[in-house]
Amino acid sequence: MGTQKLPPALNTVPESFVQFALADKLINLGRANSLWPLTFGIACCAIEMMATGAARFDLSRFGAEVFRPSPRQSDVMIVAGTISKKMMPGIKTLYDQMPEPKWVIALGNCAISGGPFVYEGQYGIVEGADQFLPVDVYIPGCPPRPEALIEGIIELEHKITGWRRWPKVEPQWLDEPKFPNTP
Ligand code: SF4
Repeated sequence: MGTQKLPPALNTVPESFVQFALADKLINLGRANSLWPLTFGIACCAIEMMATGAARFDLSRFGAEVFRPSPRQSDVMIVAGTISKKMMPGIKTLYDQMPEPKWVIALGNCAISGGPFVYEGQYGIVEGADQFLPVDVYIPGCPPRPEALIEGIIELEHKITGWRRWPKVEPQWLDEPKFPNTP
């Protein structure tokens, strides 16, 4: 049939779609700079999370220090610690009670994959938060340092807005040979 010309009425569609896109960008910028994590920790990695919010590391520099006591007021779940199978339904309920849009950070090896508790015959540990939650950012370490959580928050901001506060630092030594005298 070939290409058809649009009827005249449809040629006058207002440009409101573009305006919505701009509004979305602005709203996402606001969301990314005021992330409210849920006050919630399940093992040792939570201590690092608490340190990240305290004076020395000062998470409020990134607008993410307002840890909320209710999932209904939170938009980020930081899974900080070992997830036991007994605890999993409770964590899922907390996630379900958070309003959209919401994000999940897996903090530490336990939350990523079960960490040091994965061995043949283990029966009590969930091997990663992504077994039952949509994880957005993974932060490795046992435990990860507060700087790593800050980098995870910055990465989440990047995911929300497509913009990073400052360029990513790539470790230079990865490109260099380990033993300079070997070919
Ligand atoms: S990753 Fe290490 S520090 Fe973090 S909860 Fe697991 S055992 Fe503890």
